Amino acid sequence: MPADLPFLPFARPDITEAEVDAASDAIRSGWLTTGPNAAAFESEFAEFVGGDITAVAVNSATAGLHLALEALGVGPGDEVLVPTWTFTATAEVVRYLGADPVMVDVDPGTLNVDLDVAGAAITDRTRAIMPVHFAGLPVAQQPLRSLADRHGLTVVEDAAHAIPARVGSAHVGAGHNEAAVFSFYATKTVTTGEGGMVTVTDTALADRIRTMRLHGISRDVFDRYQSTTPAWHYEVVAPGFKYNLPDPAAAMGRVQLGRAAAMGARRAAIAATYTEAFADLPLVLPAEASAGMEHAWHLYVIRLGDDAPVDRDSFVQAMAERGIGTSVHFIPLHLHPYWRDRYALSPEDFPAATAAYARVVSLPIFSSMTDGDVERVVTAVREIVW
Ligand SMILES: *Cc1c(COP(=O)(O)O)cnc(C)c1O
Repeated sequence: MPADLPFLPFARPDITEAEVDAASDAIRSGWLTTGPNAAAFESEFAEFVGGDITAVAVNSATAGLHLALEALGVGPGDEVLVPTWTFTATAEVVRYLGADPVMVDVDPGTLNVDLDVAGAAITDRTRAIMPVHFAGLPVAQQPLRSLADRHGLTVVEDAAHAIPARVGSAHVGAGHNEAAVFSFYATKTVTTGEGGMVTVTDTALADRIRTMRLHGISRDVFDRYQSTTPAWHYEVVAPGFKYNLPDPAAAMGRVQLGRAAAMGARRAAIAATYTEAFADLPLVLPAEASAGMEHAWHLYVIRLGDDAPVDRDSFVQAMAERGIGTSVHFIPLHLHPYWRDRYALSPEDFPAATAAYARVVSLPIFSSMTDGDVERVVTAVREIVW
């Protein structure tokens, strides 16, 4: 194979001079911690997703998920429904609060949480559900909301993959549920290196999240007394966390957000090219968004079919030999030692996720891929799987 071609990773940030300039300007301004850029990023993000929501910037989606559950009052003894088909962050934040994640199998077609399985797992301790919009494919909102309402659950969406995904005319995170949490990690569709954003409909919830993201220092108290107390004065109202987003990262995020629609369109075009090129191969191709939804295409996940000439591990190896990176999303939570042992989980309890795990591969998809990069992946996959 053409060994002279550079390695093509499965993900790469799409950074232009505009992001470099914005971050440099922020650094030169001397304001390095959370400041004017973070505030502007929050309001621009709220405007971007639309709806009557407040956006709060944080330094990771993990932090945002933790803060959202904390603000909603999740604590020891509570149960939170989490799909097994996710990154460990979704479940670990439940443990931070002394509560227990209850792993739920996924729909074998979409790899999004199976709401029937979720419904059957509800007990009188269940407080919340954390759906993941896997790969950027939105979870159907109406059945999710009716399940939550029927059982009095709050919904914290793990929207780490879901910029710019849409449900109906609205973006994910536009107030369908109590909270949605986005990730700006280096591999995500919009990146600040490390970073995240929480969107909430309830302003009291936003206030609690803002307070807890910075040491439990109450801005409201500070603001209320600002005129009569010196500038150094503040009040600690809770043992908070250190989850604030630095301004150079926020400055980069503002530029990325301005490019999100265009970057999303490029991802969608790459996905469409793959789907057309692989139609005749023994592969299960990723589920498309149903009518009225828009996929963010953070990931393009194929599954090797029964009749494929190679298994998943040989496929990964063959791609690597052609200089093409792939990944696996996800190793389901129930197979990781901590979750498996703590909750006595076995593969048979999660038939859809266990079966999918043996077959999934994430192909390169990122907005700065050239047509030549895409063609290289198509050619390699066709050679290996044909
Ligand atoms: C990336 C990711 C996270 C964590 O995001 P961070 O910003 O790195 O904390 C959470 N959930 C899912 C599904 C992810 O893919």
